[in-house]
Amino acid sequence: MKTLGMLGGMSWESTQSYYQLINKGINQKLGGLHSARIILNSVDFDQIEKLQHEEAWERMGIILANAAYSVEKAGAEGLIICTNTMHRLVPDIRKHIAIPIIHIADATAQRLVADGVTKVGLLGTAFTMEQDFYKGRLSEKFGLEVLIPDAAQRKQIHQVIYDELCLGIIREASRDYYSQVIHALAEQGAQAVILGCTEIGLLISQSESTLPLYDTTQIHAEAAVEWMLEH
Ligand code: GLU
Repeated sequence: MKTLGMLGGMSWESTQSYYQLINKGINQKLGGLHSARIILNSVDFDQIEKLQHEEAWERMGIILANAAYSVEKAGAEGLIICTNTMHRLVPDIRKHIAIPIIHIADATAQRLVADGVTKVGLLGTAFTMEQDFYKGRLSEKFGLEVLIPDAAQRKQIHQVIYDELCLGIIREASRDYYSQVIHALAEQGAQAVILGCTEIGLLISQSESTLPLYDTTQIHAEAAVEWMLEH
């Protein structure tokens, strides 16, 4: 088994999910008392969130590149970044490490393409829904047509992530709201929806959605397990 590096804490609520999914995945494949070889660097999200909202991407690039370097130095052979939003900084991080990064959008897009989906809705932070680093990658590299909610919906989706989900708060009203937004995306022709924020899976599950859900946390964790066991 290869040793996996993880950049976590963004937020720790979803890092917990990753930790569980990867350990369970390894145990399912190897049996016995096997568990995952992981080196985790978990950052302080308060600092990151403030810098995100100041759009201080260069500064965050330095913080995450240093964190990634420390994980590589400690013996990690590959890296996952446990947040969709911070994949914006993949080019900055790559410059400072030699180990591969398992990209969350690539893992998700590969799954969508394999399932024959061509038109997909995307839910996530405003950064992920609006900026090109994520949507652009899905369309340019994988030929997917990506639909996002309207401006008012994006604002609400974003607020729920930061004010509730990253704090472990799960509200029925927010679940209903997400279901409505998914329904609206279905009416615009989306065949599936990407839960493009690693906390959304804590709020909504398949039974509350009119469209098939592609949970990036689940898919990314599965891709990590597969990579760890590859020869
Ligand atoms: N975990 C979230 C994501 O997947 C949001 C928190 C963050 O901004 O990193 O985008």
